[in-house]
Amino acid sequence: MIRTRFAPSPTGFLHIGGARTALFSWAYARRHGGSFILRIEDTDVARSTPEAVQAILDGMNWLGLNWDEGPFYQMQRMDRYKEVIQQMLASGSAYHCYTSAEELEQMREEQRARGLKPRYDGRWRPEPGKTLPTPPAGVKPVVRFRNPQDGVVAWDDQVKGRIEIANAELDDLIIARADGTPTYNFCVVVDDWDMGITQVIRGDDHVNNTPRQINILKALGATPPQYAHLSMILGDDGQKLSKRHGAVSVMQYDEDGYLPEAVLNYLARLGWSHGDDEIFSMAQFCEWFGLDHITPSAAQFNTEKLNWLNAHYLRQTDNARLEALLRPRLEARGVSVSEQPALSSIIALYKERVATLNELADAAEVFYIDLHPAAELRAQHLTAETLPAIADFLAGVREVAWEAPAIGALIKATVGTHGLKMPKLAMPLRVLLTGQTQTPSVDAVVALFPREAVIARLEKALAAG
Ligand code: GLU
Repeated sequence: MIRTRFAPSPTGFLHIGGARTALFSWAYARRHGGSFILRIEDTDVARSTPEAVQAILDGMNWLGLNWDEGPFYQMQRMDRYKEVIQQMLASGSAYHCYTSAEELEQMREEQRARGLKPRYDGRWRPEPGKTLPTPPAGVKPVVRFRNPQDGVVAWDDQVKGRIEIANAELDDLIIARADGTPTYNFCVVVDDWDMGITQVIRGDDHVNNTPRQINILKALGATPPQYAHLSMILGDDGQKLSKRHGAVSVMQYDEDGYLPEAVLNYLARLGWSHGDDEIFSMAQFCEWFGLDHITPSAAQFNTEKLNWLNAHYLRQTDNARLEALLRPRLEARGVSVSEQPALSSIIALYKERVATLNELADAAEVFYIDLHPAAELRAQHLTAETLPAIADFLAGVREVAWEAPAIGALIKATVGTHGLKMPKLAMPLRVLLTGQTQTPSVDAVVALFPREAVIARLEKALAAG
């Protein structure tokens, strides 16, 4: 039975890297009919916040990455960690260490002076035949893991290949602080063990923790899971994503007008491939996903590709859903959507041309607001040459059959009468009706409005000169 987990620390929002980790863990469980577990690693009380927990849950929900168990909160599992620490002390795989901060500093200085890597020297580590110092009075000890001293700790990383670390490189990790609170790596180990995790899929910033975690798991008599360490995601510019640099919340993508299915499809291809397939559903992804086609090299974010995918999914989305997504966006802008023109007909005309819901909202908004086309655009397109044609067109508008082909014919006839090229009338109409110079076919745009609205917008413009 496959069991995977996503184990974010709630110290910020769910960003792109975390979302990809969650997606891969989720898809792996789905692929194998297993379980996907959500675990909130909130033991860093100084940096964890309830808002960040909520932001993670919101992000997961928006993406539709549903979990089968959890969310489990590490802060609620303290008794369990303490219990395991007691067991390890009893079995001898952990021990009390009374070394003070000053002693540790002195130890490190001496090691550095001798050109050695600074590390705990094991002075409180019990060994057969060794006499330990007498515990100093009134000092609360930390608990250290008794790391094996010989041999190697090795694993076949599902992304990076075989990794081997000499145990001599690892000193005895503190698993409980003097106040009894368990430390980060230890909680992860107990959780992965208790939760029966079979595949740990996580960012490769955790590679250095893995040998320590494997050693502790083995000391507990547990079989370590498989590990897959995902390489990092670089920004559009090839720089590492960080909070200050491009690492935005997945909810920002919602705000910016991306559809969750586009973001998911995009994330799936960040470091994973299935032949040349670029566009696929999550059902397909779950069918195809395996750890064997993840690239060990860093993936680079590409906003253009995300836009391309989003445009694709917008085109695929039926108008009723787009309308439901668009209405609140327009309302949030203070735009009241009236009956006419029907939002659905604006959507039908514009959805092929936009990359985001916000671009669609930009296009739709102009139909409902009191429009004031930019002065430069008016100056550029309302000229002595074009004004008479606009006035003529306005006269025709009062009588023409209210449908795009008839309106198109009227435009053609008007430019013909005035000896103008098509854009000489089409451009001013675009500007006066939408404030924009790029729109779908102008006859179709005119036909979207009620006749009276076109008359009103053109009259107002002509009156203003
Ligand atoms: N809590 C860790 C993080 O947010 C992940 C730990 C893990 O996946 O083992 O980076």
